[in-house]
Amino acid sequence: MKKYSCSVLAFGLFFGASAFSGAAALKPAAAPEPAAAAQPPAAFAAAPLPYAEDALAPYMSAETLQFHYGKHYKGYVAALNRLTAGRPEAKMSLEQVIMTAQPGPVFNNAAQAWNHVFFFNCLRPGGGGRPVGALAAAIERDFGSYEAFRAAFTQAAQGLFGSGWAWLVADNGKLKIEQYANADLPMKHGQWGLLVLDVWEHAYYIDRRNARADYIEAAMNSLVNWDFAAANYASAPQGK
Ligand code: MN
Repeated sequence: MKKYSCSVLAFGLFFGASAFSGAAALKPAAAPEPAAAAQPPAAFAAAPLPYAEDALAPYMSAETLQFHYGKHYKGYVAALNRLTAGRPEAKMSLEQVIMTAQPGPVFNNAAQAWNHVFFFNCLRPGGGGRPVGALAAAIERDFGSYEAFRAAFTQAAQGLFGSGWAWLVADNGKLKIEQYANADLPMKHGQWGLLVLDVWEHAYYIDRRNARADYIEAAMNSLVNWDFAAANYASAPQGK
């Protein structure tokens, strides 16, 4: 099976079919259930948020991340565990589930779990600014300039109708910007994700109500983790 990136491999540690970490991470510390009634352990564990919930303020509030990470993302992981309990998917990696699932709830929740870990890693305290090094050179090669890239990426994020994701991807040796609706994601299109912005309303509604443009601008100016994008570019397989 194809590798998906060094950072994603690290996520795999959390998403793998671990009998213990999943159950520990997803269940509250409640009284133990009787052995006879025990459910199979959760196959997919939530990855930790890579910074404190208040670390992105004032550009993204702690309340936004309490809901986006704590409710939406963890909700996708919990739903995936419910949907796959006792099924062959429970023994797969998250990426294998995404690549083999038919359209429907299993795919949607698996892909949203993957997308959100990637997205949270695309932000960092003190982020923003410009890419450097090989990724910056590739952006200039394929978009003409950072400014042209940023304008096109912003337009893709702003112009995506409904819920979805604006992506910078590597595709057959060329960088591209993609709009993917709902839970869709680059690996389903033979592409390698470099950077993503979540433009579902839940990503910005608490802080900015309907002002998606303000959220995009704040993310690009002050939150984007270009080091993460550069690491993804460096780990892109040959030909991507
Ligand atoms: Mn989201």
